[in-house]
Amino acid sequence: METHIAIFPSPGMGHLIPLTELAHRLLLHRRLFITFIIPTAAGSPVKPQNDILNAMPENISSIFLPSVDLSDIPEDAALETRIILTLTRSLPALRQTLTELTGESIRKRPSALVVDLFGPPSFEIAKEINIPAYLFCTVSAMSLVSIFHTPILDQMYDCEYRDLPEPVRLPGCVPVQGANMPEPLQDKKNDAYLRVVESSKMFSLAKGVLVNSFLELEPGPFKAMEEGDWCKPKIYPVGPLIRSGSENQTGGEGFECLKWLDEHPVGSVLFVSFGSGGTLSQQQLDELAFGLEKSGQRFIWVVKSPHGHGKSYSSYFNAESHLDPFGFLPEGFLGRVEGRGLVVSSWAPQVEILSHGSTGGFLTHCGWNSILESVVCGVPMIAWPLYAEQKMNAVLLTNGLGVAHRVEVDENGVVGRDEIDKCVRSLIEGEDGRKTRLKISELKALAAEALSPDGSSTSSLLDVAQIWCN
Ligand code: UDP
Repeated sequence: METHIAIFPSPGMGHLIPLTELAHRLLLHRRLFITFIIPTAAGSPVKPQNDILNAMPENISSIFLPSVDLSDIPEDAALETRIILTLTRSLPALRQTLTELTGESIRKRPSALVVDLFGPPSFEIAKEINIPAYLFCTVSAMSLVSIFHTPILDQMYDCEYRDLPEPVRLPGCVPVQGANMPEPLQDKKNDAYLRVVESSKMFSLAKGVLVNSFLELEPGPFKAMEEGDWCKPKIYPVGPLIRSGSENQTGGEGFECLKWLDEHPVGSVLFVSFGSGGTLSQQQLDELAFGLEKSGQRFIWVVKSPHGHGKSYSSYFNAESHLDPFGFLPEGFLGRVEGRGLVVSSWAPQVEILSHGSTGGFLTHCGWNSILESVVCGVPMIAWPLYAEQKMNAVLLTNGLGVAHRVEVDENGVVGRDEIDKCVRSLIEGEDGRKTRLKISELKALAAEALSPDGSSTSSLLDVAQIWCN
């Protein structure tokens, strides 16, 4: 009999993409059918999300839950508050859907409910219906260690993390200065802080946690989780699961950039992207444009319209800019960089670009998927973290793995054009770039090894699949 798995993803491409990859990979090994039960907040899903869902094989289907109302939430509510409320307000609909599936036939009864980082509030429903609940961790093992420690650290420190005189030392992890701890933990008075602390406590209730990372990339955090009594669930390192890049996400404009890459020398192009949600202020957008121009290097830049009032994730819930982003570029910029700089509006086929031989560097906002994609493709990075746990990821990339150089932010919170120029030249043609390229090629080989038939992540995924199928 085929086993049925239900997946309940949080809003955002950074959650949906790795969960769909998990589903694909499970199908490679076991006869399963998988249903994505998708919460929605405002209207129908955006195009990149639909493209991914439509490209899934027939054993994977999707059910969209009715859109929840978030109109009572203040405009300036934290990203995490929006995500958590979208999920918690979708719980009655999730309960109804799971109950219907369970009632329909034994065949349709899910053997497991898989949720991501923000999904633990759904564990209660899984328990009610008697379905084992698993977490799929779409962030690093280091971030997972920090999540397990969030309630402990909450008891330990009264002050804000950024005011701690010493770095936070999490078991098995590189030390992290308080200011680099995840964004929702940076303001204890914000509603998002309490929600994240409460949600972190629920992590221990998962039957198991599948982590989108691999043993060889983060041996310290994985060992600490195996040995620490603070980590109750069984941990399964199953990554790096990245989009295979085979499905045609955007067509048209997106694939123009691959043709453009074909025309440039090996390792010569910098890819600049701030993920599905990251946006810059107008001032920062200008500095980036002038910095790229000054560097004289080749680049592909995914440009999004700037945010008006300090929110660096303003396109998170809708990965496509509504306004024409090119209208915000400095006057004459496109003409001055013609031939060596390509700008793409809002969304580009990232995996395809990173795996193209002409790409020699990645200026990234340090979203975990982007990092894994860069590792798998062996592309060294410039770390420019914006929000969520991205600053902590930047610490791992620089101090921990030595595969990125982090940009310096000036006293006004801006990364200036000279700094950008320096970082870009150093990565593409400097000695630093050569060293980070060597290190990342080692990680690339380890990543391939982890996913090989006898690799650590394959055997871990088979272990958990075996439990579900039994
Ligand atoms: N992505 C893409 N094209 C873009 C921007 C993002 O394909 O123009 C994909 C990227 O490859 C990654 C995901 O969207 O798989 C972004 O996830 P990540 O964790 O890096 O950042 P988030 O968007 O969640 O901040």
